[in-house]
Amino acid sequence: MRKSAPTEKQQGMKRRRTCVACGRQADKAALLRLVRTGTGAVCFDGSGTQAGRGAYVCSGACLEAAYKARRIERALRVPLTQEDRDRIAEGLFGAALEA
Ligand SMILES: [Zn+2]
Repeated sequence: MRKSAPTEKQQGMKRRRTCVACGRQADKAALLRLVRTGTGAVCFDGSGTQAGRGAYVCSGACLEAAYKARRIERALRVPLTQEDRDRIAEGLFGAALEA
């Protein structure tokens, strides 16, 4: 396990987040963040800073598992539509291309 350099200001607890699918805890930066926007739409938040309620998964496989178990819906308290999934996939692929 690689520890992140202590460049960020200490904010008490480290920004650990839990994958909603497998329950693994990881640094916020290492997880994929999904965010519920003000309109109720769910999208992938590549920056990890978008305002709104967030849910985290650690991998694409966990994203699929979270879809199947409806963990995203539960975490974000919003119904997830096919449109949302398409938007999330677009966001993920866009981020991969930029990287
Ligand atoms: Zn996971």
